[in-house]
Amino acid sequence: MVHDHRKGAASFWLAELGEPVLRRPLASDLRVDVAIVGAGLSGLWTARYLLERSPELKIAVLEREYAGFGASGRNGGWVSALFPVPVPRVKSEYGATLADSLERALAKTVDEVGRQVHDLAIECDFIKEGTLVVARNRPQWSRLLEGAMGSTGSTILDASGTARILRVPDALGAVYEPSCATVQPAKLVRGLADRVEELGCRIFESTEVSAVDGSRLVANGHTVLADHVVVAVESYGSELAGRHRSVLPLYSMMIATAPLSDAQYEAIGEPPTGLSFADGRNLVVYGQVTAGRRIAFGGRGAPYNFGSRISDRMDQREAMRRKLASDLISLLPGLHEVKVEAFWGGTIGISRDWFPRLLLGAGNRQVEVRGYAGDGVAMTNLMGRLIAGVVTDPDNLPEYLPILTRPEREWEPEPLRYLGINLGLLLTRAVDRLEQAGKPAWPLDRMKRVLIGR
Ligand SMILES: Cc1cc2nc3c(=O)[nH]c(=O)nc-3n(C[C@H](O)[C@H](O)[C@H](O)COP(=O)(O)OP(=O)(O)OC[C@H]3O[C@@H](n4cnc5c(N)ncnc54)[C@H](O)[C@@H]3O)c2cc1C
Repeated sequence: MVHDHRKGAASFWLAELGEPVLRRPLASDLRVDVAIVGAGLSGLWTARYLLERSPELKIAVLEREYAGFGASGRNGGWVSALFPVPVPRVKSEYGATLADSLERALAKTVDEVGRQVHDLAIECDFIKEGTLVVARNRPQWSRLLEGAMGSTGSTILDASGTARILRVPDALGAVYEPSCATVQPAKLVRGLADRVEELGCRIFESTEVSAVDGSRLVANGHTVLADHVVVAVESYGSELAGRHRSVLPLYSMMIATAPLSDAQYEAIGEPPTGLSFADGRNLVVYGQVTAGRRIAFGGRGAPYNFGSRISDRMDQREAMRRKLASDLISLLPGLHEVKVEAFWGGTIGISRDWFPRLLLGAGNRQVEVRGYAGDGVAMTNLMGRLIAGVVTDPDNLPEYLPILTRPEREWEPEPLRYLGINLGLLLTRAVDRLEQAGKPAWPLDRMKRVLIGR
């Protein structure tokens, strides 16, 4: 699908930057050392680290729309060490040594993003103020405490400790995790595109890659030959031949409020700008107090489109806008009169087993990354470093790599996929309602896990 640009910016964050001036498309055949498909954070961090290791490399990034058009320019801006698969499961499959080593690498990645933003002078409101995850009923509280137990840096707060950071009236308590930062995501990805271009990388926009075959690509009808090819299109991989069922595009939607008045800001407890927050429900919601003192708030739960279709129309579903606004006010009633100024959405890419992937083919000459499952702002940076390692120094890759290179399992064919995912989403919402009402939810919870795989 090519985006209809008459419909305006793809997110509030991109709109803040104004209409992008498009780079020129690929107009002839090309020969490079590394060809990267997709100018999101995965593709651009890869280019950044390749150039850091080998400044002489000839790199081309081929982007169907413009840099930052995908999830990288639309997300909630949490720069976190989150991994989509729970740590106990990673440990049970790979052992504590590999799981701990991956966990440490992810934790360090938040600061690495901060270092890059600083060194490259990318003004993207990078603020490290931590994350507050609030429990609003007993099952949420038990899950949060269980999750916090294995984590060294987090603090468990009671209701009054929680209210000192963010006023959520029905909070039983919260877990505060200091290692998370936030950014204005479009500023990060567009700034990164400008910097890698200044460092010598060529970026072609309005350039659609229609075929990937080992080290040969077809882009806008031209042939691109490369020693290494990196496919970094995340959820859009579901549109590429041969990858249709390897990644599932699931919509996540967001709203942004007007800048908070002093009274509104006071009513929610004067949280620091840059704070990220959520509650412990199963159908994920996520918020950020932006540098401009707005609340950017998002959530999952929009229905999955038959055949993994990604469409501009889905970005605009009015029912989701109303749902998000009411979820936000239920969490932070102090905002009951706040104006919602923007609404948008985008797709996250989910693999069948929820593990993000770094797949190597053609003797390491073809690399593909996908499946961040909504936790990619920091992880794309780690993947970029790993890919640069695969290309320039393949004998020195980290011990946890097998967690990411594990063989893929495909999603079910339609209509099973459509029925399974959408029923799974309905069940997840039902589990949250039962938990809030203090009723047993485990039978539905178990069914939902079977359907969604998590
Ligand atoms: C609403 C929303 C909220 C999110 N919130 C968070 C968050 O707070 N924290 C977090 O860590 N993660 C979050 N995520 C996930 C995170 O944004 C992604 O994991 C990350 O941005 C993925 O980056 P990427 O470069 O791999 O993919 P993308 O940013 O999607 O980039 C892929 C690029 O490939 C291009 N492309 C597609 N097909 C082709 C083709 N055939 N030829 C050429 N180019 C092509 C696309 O136009 C796109 O620009 C969120 C995602 C969404 C949608």
